[in-house]
Amino acid sequence: MPISQDLLEILACPACKAKVELKPDGSALKCVECRRVYPIRDDIPVMLVDEAKIEPEGADEQAEQKIE
Ligand SMILES: [Zn+2]
Repeated sequence: MPISQDLLEILACPACKAKVELKPDGSALKCVECRRVYPIRDDIPVMLVDEAKIEPEGADEQAEQKIE
């Protein structure tokens, strides 16, 4: 478990200050608002707008439905 729930609650998207959630595969953090995906390198989330990728609409709809 590389990223703890406590850490997730502290982290926020640097672009829009919304919360981020762990991707189902644990490889990255995704902003719930702007859909930027922040990579995790060596167990450390890279919370930089320049490093983020914007996930296409509907790319992981199933995962989101599971959360809601
Ligand atoms: Zn955001």
